[in-house]
Parts: sequence; structure tokens; C-alpha cells
Amino acid sequence: MNHLYPSASHRHTRGFLALFLASLLWTQPLLAEPPLPAYQWQTPAPGIHVAVKPAAHRFIDSNVTIIENAEDLIIVDANDNLTNAKQLIADIKQRWSKPVSAVITTHWHSDHLLANHYYRQAFGSDVQFIGHASLQQTIPTKAQAQLTERINNWQTAIDKAQQTLSQNPLDTALAEKIKRAEQTLTELQGIELRIPDVTFNEKMVLKRPGRSIELLFFGPAHTAGDTVVYLPDDKVLISGDLFDEIPFGGHGFLQSWLSTLQQIDTLKFTQVIPGHGAIHRDRRYLQQVTALIADALTRARLAHQKQQDEATFLAQLPLDSLRQPFSGQDELAGRVSAQFIPEFYTLAYRQTQP
Ligand SMILES: [Zn+2]
Repeated sequence: MNHLYPSASHRHTRGFLALFLASLLWTQPLLAEPPLPAYQWQTPAPGIHVAVKPAAHRFIDSNVTIIENAEDLIIVDANDNLTNAKQLIADIKQRWSKPVSAVITTHWHSDHLLANHYYRQAFGSDVQFIGHASLQQTIPTKAQAQLTERINNWQTAIDKAQQTLSQNPLDTALAEKIKRAEQTLTELQGIELRIPDVTFNEKMVLKRPGRSIELLFFGPAHTAGDTVVYLPDDKVLISGDLFDEIPFGGHGFLQSWLSTLQQIDTLKFTQVIPGHGAIHRDRRYLQQVTALIADALTRARLAHQKQQDEATFLAQLPLDSLRQPFSGQDELAGRVSAQFIPEFYTLAYRQTQP
């Protein structure tokens, strides 16, 4: 999803990162509440296991799916939080004696692939990294730029904190925070982004006893190359970030995203493992996001017909009612939708420019 992190959008990048770092470095009490668990296991169907992020962290890191086959495990998406990723890998090794044969990356956002590096370290060179062909371009450019920006921002924050510490050398709490930040920086500097060894353009099927694993691409959508993992025998769909509880549009292609969702709706599934948030047992979010994109495109085209400029178009939107289906009563969802929903309409305006 790539929220609240560098390049959540070009307009918000600096602000969000600054806030994010500030919350880690300056406002987090040292002996705070016990931290939330890294993930919670759920098994929506036999052999399909999901490390679901706790609700409070659902927008900042992705769910990870483990497809357990007779002889091997296949992972879909890896975390962004490296500490959590290491814990998950240790847990996988302890729970199953089967090897991880493949890691499928649904798209280039770092919260779906940063920890791929650790899967290679933990399971060796037999692990195949699989993804859409476009990842060969987007990972070394866009994903790498995100990682580099993050490293630079951590470095800047640490330098500033060290200056403050030099003026208050007895501030042991600050010294401890700097130490933790330096550990994070070192981990990030050690990450080598993995470009998929195996790629596909439209469809690829992995056959396992009793199960087909279909990797499908319907066109640019949330990013230039989103893979949907469809398990027809289990009637489960692993959807990446295509129709989350609150979709992030910042790197999206709305017209083609709409047709992608319409094609997904023709597949036979009863459960969806989204990139972020709780497992879906119905098509509510698929319908909601389809309706949002259709509405954004319709309103934007109308605005162009009336020759409205972007600011006027955005100012006259009924934002509260547009946000309502996504934000509900949840405070965190309210804050996230306040950023993401207007971004969808901005994107729609720009992408329908005559
Ligand atoms: Zn994403």
C-alpha cells in the first residue's frame, strides 16, 4: 500500500516521512505499552495461512500469505518492517519443516517486498522470486528510490538528534532512541532489493498436488504491474492492494484499474486476502472500490467538460459522503481516508485531461 512512508505521494512525501520519523524518534516513550504483536495467524482455508497485521498497523505494513503444499511453501508478499519479517521467518521455519520454494511479489511497493532479502538469506538460492515482468523495471528504479530516500531521511534525523544530544549529554532516553534508530538504519543499508528471477506478462500457473496457483495480470491498476494470486481450488483470491479497505491511488492508473476490478469480479472466490486489513468474506470492498473509481472518473470527465480547474473540481466534491463508506466509525480509517480519497479524485482529474 505504501502509506505513511516515503512517496506515499509526491505532495505528501516529506511531510509524512517527517511525521513518521518524529513519532519514532521523539514522541515514543521508552517504556511504553507492550508493543502489538507483529502479526496474528489466520487460516481461511486448509493450507492457506495468513500472518495478518494487527488492526492498528494495517495501513503501514502488508499481510503475508503462506500457501502450504504437500512438499513446499509459497509465500505471497513480504513485510516492510524488518524486525517483524525476521520474526515471521523464524516462525515459518519452526511451524513447517517444508522449504519455501517461491516468494511472489504482488507489486513494487516496499511494504510488499523489502523483506524478500531475508527470505533469500533464510532459505537459500533455491527460493524463486516471482512477479510481473514490469517489476524488472520498477524495483531497481522506483522501489530503490524509496529505499534510498528512507535511508537518507533516517540519516538526517539521526544527525540532528546527535546534535541535540551533544548539547544535553545526560539525556539517556534520547541516546537510547538514537541507538535504536541507528540499528534500523544499519538494517536498511544492508537490504539488497530482489528483482524477480521468474516473471510473467498475463498469466502463469504453478501446479501443486490438489491445487493450482494462478498468477494473473489484468493491466496497470494500483501500480504498473499488480499480480493477483487466484487459488480456484480453494476459492481464495490474494489481491495485493487492488481493493483494500481504503485503497491508495498515488501510483495508480484509474481507467485500467477499473477494468481490472471488473475482470476480477468474474472470478469464482469466496474469500479475499487483501494486502492490508482483515480477510474479506464477501465482495463489499471490491464493489466499494469499483464504485469509487467509477465515480472519480465520471466526476472528473464532467469537470473537464465544464472546463473546471483542478482546485475548483476538488473544492466542490462532497468529500464527507465520498469518504463515509471507507472511514466508517474507525478513527484511524477516518484519518487515512481523509488523505487517500481526495488523492483518488486528483488522480482522476489528471488522468482524464482531454
Ligand atoms: Zn501498494
